[in-house]
Amino acid sequence: MIALVTGAAGFLGSHLAKALVAEGHTVTGIDDLSTGDLANVAPLLESERFRFVEADVCAGLPAFDALHAVFHFASPASPIDYAERPLETLRVNSLGTERCASLALAKGARLIYASTSETYGDPLEHPQRETYWGNVNPIGPRSCYDEAKRYGEALVATFRRAFALDARIVRIFNTYGPHMRRRDGRVVPAFITQALSGEPFTVFGDGSQTRSLCYVNDLVEGILRFASVDSPAHWLVNLGSDEEVTVMTIARTIAELAGVPLRVRSLPLPEDDPKQRRPDLTRVRDVLQWRAHTPMAEGLAQTLAWFKTALSTTHA
Ligand code: UDP
Repeated sequence: MIALVTGAAGFLGSHLAKALVAEGHTVTGIDDLSTGDLANVAPLLESERFRFVEADVCAGLPAFDALHAVFHFASPASPIDYAERPLETLRVNSLGTERCASLALAKGARLIYASTSETYGDPLEHPQRETYWGNVNPIGPRSCYDEAKRYGEALVATFRRAFALDARIVRIFNTYGPHMRRRDGRVVPAFITQALSGEPFTVFGDGSQTRSLCYVNDLVEGILRFASVDSPAHWLVNLGSDEEVTVMTIARTIAELAGVPLRVRSLPLPEDDPKQRRPDLTRVRDVLQWRAHTPMAEGLAQTLAWFKTALSTTHA
């Protein structure tokens, strides 16, 4: 397969590109390096089956003779990153998604769009099934991301309906692992960095809000399986783990793994921060017979080990 991965130097994109190359596919990765890091694809650059293009997806996509799959994974994805780049976030999921869909259509390729559990907003249905329409504040501080992804989904649905494009959506729930940036503000890199530098953990609110954390290798396996099925029963699936934990439990687990006492600096809960989140994974189990299998403590231990090395070098 010849594939295009947008956001290839980012957290998920780099793991996805690596897995595709490892499976024998030929990959072009594109990234404008605004939140990605070339270090994430450095080992891949040695492969003859990987080509890296430094560019903004919105400015145009590379030319291809043949192309079989487009994975649109470019987007700021952490609350800090999309708050710093709100227009870029809106653009890469709207114009960027349209460019990816048009390219896929022109080449007869399949499109896999990285959407998010944020399309459910602060959910009133729990756990969240794919049929739930969500509870999103369209003008809140997270809306540049949530609504951009919802618009991206509408584009994908339109390309399917109007042009019969084989376009699919993965709604990705909280995922963590190596290649996250130390300062992207998400809970796992924040707590790990704080544990390693002897700082107290910045817990927002009382830490009782929940998330379900998926280790990146499991997630990528699910994406690849979904992308390779010829006619899946569903073209939109939740992907993630349904091991739901409180933020305080995440803090406690990371403190234990790092061998530091749990010290907490309480900060206000950000506006529109979802109080609970857990995917209903019935659909993905039926379609793909897939489930996340890495226990949280094990995935966090591997992530901690990676951060220890990364913090002593230049990246992260
Ligand atoms: N969070 C926290 N301290 C931090 C960063 C995040 O308590 O330093 C909380 C945040 O309020 C949220 C949860 O952890 O309830 C997950 O936040 P993250 O930014 O990782 O992802 P998202 O909110 O997009 O699910």
